[in-house]
Amino acid sequence: MTHTFDILIIGGGAVGCAVARELSRYDVSIALLEKEADVAAGASGRNSAVVHAGFNNKPGSLMAKLCVEGNHGFEAACRELDVPYRKTGKLLVAFDQADLDTLARLKAQGEENGCQGLRLLSREELRARLPQVGGIGAFESPETAVFDPFQYTVALAENAQKNGVQFFLNTKVTAIERTAKGFRVTAGDQVFTARRVVNCAGLHSAEVAALAGLNRYHIYPCRGEYFILDKTDVLPMPIYPAPKAGIGGLGVHLTPTIHGNLIIGPSAEYIEDPADTASTQVVMDKLWAEAQQLLPGLNGRQIIGSYAGIRPKQAPPGEGGFRDFVIREEVSCPGLVNLIGIESPGLTASLPIGRMVAGILSLSMDMTEKKDFDPTRKGILRFRDQSPEEQARLIAEDPDYGEVVCRCQTVTKAEIRQAIENPLGARTISAIKYRAWATTGRCSGGYCLPKIAEILTEEYGMAPEAISHRGDGSHLFTGRVKA
Ligand SMILES: Cc1cc2nc3c(=O)[nH]c(=O)nc-3n(C[C@H](O)[C@H](O)[C@H](O)COP(=O)(O)OP(=O)(O)OC[C@H]3O[C@@H](n4cnc5c(N)ncnc54)[C@H](O)[C@@H]3O)c2cc1C
Repeated sequence: MTHTFDILIIGGGAVGCAVARELSRYDVSIALLEKEADVAAGASGRNSAVVHAGFNNKPGSLMAKLCVEGNHGFEAACRELDVPYRKTGKLLVAFDQADLDTLARLKAQGEENGCQGLRLLSREELRARLPQVGGIGAFESPETAVFDPFQYTVALAENAQKNGVQFFLNTKVTAIERTAKGFRVTAGDQVFTARRVVNCAGLHSAEVAALAGLNRYHIYPCRGEYFILDKTDVLPMPIYPAPKAGIGGLGVHLTPTIHGNLIIGPSAEYIEDPADTASTQVVMDKLWAEAQQLLPGLNGRQIIGSYAGIRPKQAPPGEGGFRDFVIREEVSCPGLVNLIGIESPGLTASLPIGRMVAGILSLSMDMTEKKDFDPTRKGILRFRDQSPEEQARLIAEDPDYGEVVCRCQTVTKAEIRQAIENPLGARTISAIKYRAWATTGRCSGGYCLPKIAEILTEEYGMAPEAISHRGDGSHLFTGRVKA
């Protein structure tokens, strides 16, 4: 069977989902194809979760323009989409004169980009503000924020779906052919036809462009590893070092997450395999040493986990640094809009990127605004955040609110059920984890994972052997020990 749409979006990261959400404002038929079992499976689920202000990016670049625009609209978007967000501000810390010069340059650059309220802090001001942090001076960005990138991506997807976008998970695009009317896209045994294709395939965007005959792009995977620390209030805002020229990222920083944990990272290491999200001893030791310089009192016993994300860099290893986003309809392949090298600040910039794609498409196709577009989406109600009276009311209404499944994060069975019944139909453990936030505490699922598996089998009829962490190749059980 061939599925026919006006527009096909390839890739269900934050950018693909933001493009889907922004295009769903118009009277066009849209499908999003994602190769994994859920959205946010790539860089969008493995990052620092910071809403950047935009002072790091070269004035006049797309990165600078879209980041500043994204930052200014982020809080309102999170309100519409019911996504956790907190404006924390951020400090960049200097350790020598060269760092102080860098911070003064970044302040001027940020002001040129349109960032508000940037300030340089003396050693005394830094000590007065955050006595626990090392360094001889700092730079303050009050517009920086933290948020939940999983829920953000899921919310964009759910809102796009509510406005008519069809999601095809476990659907890897394997071939793209030009036709008289547009494109014929193959994904395994499924065939899609569309007038326009938007390539939001992140690390694989150069390969997807090559499927359509464009071999000009190259992506260099660059891994960033992180530590996750248990809940702590040791830092009220992200603390970064003054950036060094030529590295692939922004430097190892300490970031309080929206859920109350502290993350340390990321490193920046060019690697061969874009799927290699391993944490390595050598890099983790280096991370810890660099983090100690920023926050000398760090306690290693607070570490509860690690993860890594891969940057889709256009700058090759010798060059380092950042090359600007590529967002364009290809002259040699009309109808194909490529998004290449969407590394940081891609999350922050995702909605402006979506609007930019809508602008590009409207040049060559009729994009009439829908009258009934609904910009809102409601997330899962967090039992632990409710007042005792509200909790009692919820339990009286639904006894599953009275059963705590994840003890570390106080997640109830009612929330797990809502996560399982998510509108996209994603059924993996990580899909449940990202929506309900279960399994993310100190025990890493030791207590609640078997309970979630039990709910899936006993109440949703899943065979145990079908339960997986992230889809194929990550199954929890291989077979029965007893008949
Ligand atoms: C270590 C690190 C830290 C970062 N920190 C921040 C930060 O604090 N703030 C910020 O703003 N940005 C940050 N970023 C950048 C941000 O994470 C990315 O720019 C953003 O997530 C990119 O989204 P995306 O949708 O383009 O890519 P992805 O999230 O990688 O999504 C691409 C999707 O395409 C799918 N796909 C690939 N090939 C195919 C195919 N053939 N068929 C179907 N689907 C396919 C993939 O499975 C994937 O889901 C960070 C990135 C990294 C790696």
